[in-house]
Parts: sequence; structure tokens; C-alpha cells
Amino acid sequence: MSNALGTDVRPLRIAVAGSGPSGFYAAESLLGAGPCVEVDMFDSLPAPFGLVRYGVAPDHAKIKNIITRYEKTAAHKDFAFFGNVSIGTDISVDEIGRYYDALIFACGAQTDRRLGIPGEDLPGSYTATEFVAWYNGHPDYLDRSFDLSHETAVVIGQGNVAIDVARILCKTVDELRTTDIAAHALDALAESKVKNVHMIGRRGPVQAAFTPPEIKEFGALEQCDPVVRAADLEVGGASRTELEELGWRDARKNYDLLTEFAAREVTKPRRFVVDFYQSPKAILGGERIERIIVEKNRLAGEPGKQWAEGTGETFELECGSFFRSVGYRGIPIPGVPFDDKKGVFPNVEGRILDGDGIVPGLYAVGWIKRGPSGVIGTNKPDSFETAKHVVDDIETLVPCTDPRRESVIELLRGKGVRFVSYDDWRRIDAVEIERGQLVGKPREKFVTIEDMLSAAGI
Ligand code: NAP
Repeated sequence: MSNALGTDVRPLRIAVAGSGPSGFYAAESLLGAGPCVEVDMFDSLPAPFGLVRYGVAPDHAKIKNIITRYEKTAAHKDFAFFGNVSIGTDISVDEIGRYYDALIFACGAQTDRRLGIPGEDLPGSYTATEFVAWYNGHPDYLDRSFDLSHETAVVIGQGNVAIDVARILCKTVDELRTTDIAAHALDALAESKVKNVHMIGRRGPVQAAFTPPEIKEFGALEQCDPVVRAADLEVGGASRTELEELGWRDARKNYDLLTEFAAREVTKPRRFVVDFYQSPKAILGGERIERIIVEKNRLAGEPGKQWAEGTGETFELECGSFFRSVGYRGIPIPGVPFDDKKGVFPNVEGRILDGDGIVPGLYAVGWIKRGPSGVIGTNKPDSFETAKHVVDDIETLVPCTDPRRESVIELLRGKGVRFVSYDDWRRIDAVEIERGQLVGKPREKFVTIEDMLSAAGI
């Protein structure tokens, strides 16, 4: 019998840091790869599924069905979940090296990009990151509050996250009541006075980052009409080329939907206004924000590579809340190289690099690998690529000195870390579903770590 890594005698021991889609696809791929592999997945929260639980909008329930696939991976005999354990804090990256032959980071992009304009930190100026996490019941964002006592809210950026933020602001409480939205968010939204939601993009309708199914939803909201200026749809030059000659199918569909919106009569009490060719230059106010200064833009550059240029023409827009949604960034973890410019762990096809080249045993998947782009399914090939490299590297990995799962459990117990196993999570899950049934929701999420641990009996 061989003692080589990946055999029955000495399975390859892999730690995955993060239990969102990219982590689960990496685990799935490794567990089916051929060699004997054991995967231990860590998450800083007691609940698994990362972005599916805390990022996907509550009214997009179908997207969350992907969890059934991850549950199959979690049921694999060689898989273990350690929730409520942070890598870098509860266990250092060095300690991981003692118990695992490789560590795959699947920790996503947990913070947001800034605009770098005056007033960005005034009360009333928020990030999409915190709003999304708050309405999804993320324990770290429970204490946030959002001033919805004014009629106009502004969302900056036109990606699908901006769309989610705008839609949650535009929907009525009755449209959200039967989703798994956090109870505190539903209560706050019930008091919302917001009637106008402006989603402001720096470029035009052809370059908008949102996708057709997502913009289409605004045509069927109960109390909100979409508003699009016909003049913004008069595109020529490079934008016309992009629309008609570059095969941008989403752009074509978006454009047709926006054209349909522009022709509509506006009758409902709430409005979702899609503003193109505009950039916020400053957020003004005293104790809270009152208005923003917006500059009108024009586009410059070749078809497919156009950027927005300020025209110098500005105007003011009164608003009571301001949400920036201009992309995410990863955050550094002690002991791991970090590319501060891109907000990712530097890597080649998932193999993490430092100044001297590939760092043996350290890998990345998902947004911390490629940056914050793509839908959940994009993570499948992305994670499979990294997992394949882990297996390809099996001969060159430095075997850890203590490959027993029990040793990790002893370490965590010794440190007083109250970790959550997958069976513990199943108990939390069952109670959340039960609580949801009482109020007509798919689940009523626990929003504190303590409540989750006590539901699991930990
Ligand atoms: P995104 O799609 O990259 O959109 C970012 C938006 O911010 C773009 O409109 C971008 O405009 C704008 N932006 C960037 N810097 C800006 C600045 N300085 N000033 C003004 N605008 C600026 O990112 P995202 O919305 O965060 O979404 C991340 C990924 O998750 C995307 O791939 C998205 O499709 C996916 N997602 C999918 C769903 C879904 O499937 N339903 C839901 C949520 C998220 P430019 O184009 O001009 O750069």
C-alpha cells in the first residue's frame, strides 16, 4: 500500500474557506475527481451557502434552488462542514497547513468599491453590500438602518446588484411578504416613504450591465412604473455599432425592453427611473444627505470599449438616500498574498501567486479568484478549473503533518470555537423553515449567530 497523497491510506486533505457556490463547486469537483479526497469546508457564519443565502435577492427564490445540488455534495461521506469558524482568525492559515495538504479560498468579494466623491460617508449614503446583506438577514448587518423617510432614493451603477437594490425599494411589502426577506427589513420597508428610485448609470442603455430578465421585472411591479427617457435611447455612432453589429444579445434585448418602457404611460404611485449618461460628483447635506450633484456624460472611444466622459454640465437631484452599487472587492486575509488594485488574491487559473511565483498548496475560486463578475453558474467551470489544478499538483503538494479530521475538531474545541457541523446546520434549517411556515414564508431566517447556535443546541 502506498502512503502517497490521494490514496485510501492517505487521502488528500483539502480545506475550503467559504461555503458559497464557488466553494461547493470546488468541493463537488474534488470529491468526484478520482483520487481519494477529504474536503473540510469552513465558513465564518453558522449557515452555509454564502451568496445564495446572503446575496441572492429574497424575491428570486428559484435561483436559490441550486442549494439542492450543494446539499448532495454536503452529504458525501468525505465532506465535513465547519460553520462559525473563520480562517485567518479562529484558525490561522499557518495552522491550516498543519492539518491540510491544500487550502482553497472561496471567500468571495466581501466589500464594496468606492466612488471617491465628496459626501460619500454622510449619513444616508449607503453601500449595496450593506443593504443587500441587511435585507437578507446577515448577522453582521443586523444593526444597520436605512433612512427611507424621504420620497427619492438614488442607486448608482446599473449592474444586477443595483437592480436588486432598486427592486427591493420599489416593491410593496405585499410583494415581499412571502419571500425569505429578513423580518426586520420587511418591517422597515413597510414604513418606507420612497416613491422615486433613480438608478443612475454613467454610460448609455447599450452598455448597461444589467441583464434582460432582471430589467424586465420592472414592467410588472404592483405599484411601480418604469420611467425611461426616449431621448436616451437615440443612440448613434459607436453605440449603434455595438447594438447592431457586435452581436451583444443582452444589449439588444435590454434596448428593446427599455424602448417598451419609454413608450408606457406612468400611472402607478412609485417610479423606477433609469437615468443614463450621468455620474454623481458630490453628495450634499448636513446631518444627512439632501441632494446630489450630477454631471451629464458623453461617450468616447471605439465600439466595445467606450467610456464615459463628463460634459461639464451639472444639475442637482434631491434625494434622501443614496446607495452605491459599483462593484465589489475582496478583502485580505493574514498570510495570503493580496492584489490591492484588483481586490483579489493574485493567481494563475486559481493557483495563488506571491512575488516568487506559485505558493504551493494555496488556491482560489470564485470572486476572490477572478473578481466580482458572473452569475452563480459561472463559478462551476471556474471552480472546476482550480480543483483540476489541485489534483494535477498532487505530487508537488507538501503533505501536512497531522491529516486527521479529529485533530481539527480537537483544535477548535481547545480554542473554545463553537463550530457548526452540517447536521447542526440541518437542525437550524429545519427550525427556520418551521418558523417561516407560521408566517407564510419559505423560511424565517435567524439573524444572530447566537440564535443559530442555540437552534442547533450548541
Ligand atoms: P457589475 O455587473 O459589474 O455592474 C457594476 C456597475 O457599476 C456597472 O453599471 C458599472 O458601469 C458601474 N460602475 C462601476 N464603477 C462606476 C463608477 N465609478 N461610477 C459609476 N458607475 C460605475 O457588478 P454588480 O452589479 O455588482 O454585479 C456583480 C455580478 O453579480 C455581475 O456579474 C452580476 O450580473 C451578478 N449578479 C447577478 C444577479 C442575477 O443573476 N439576478 C444578481 C446580482 C448580481 P460601467 O459598465 O460603466 O463600468
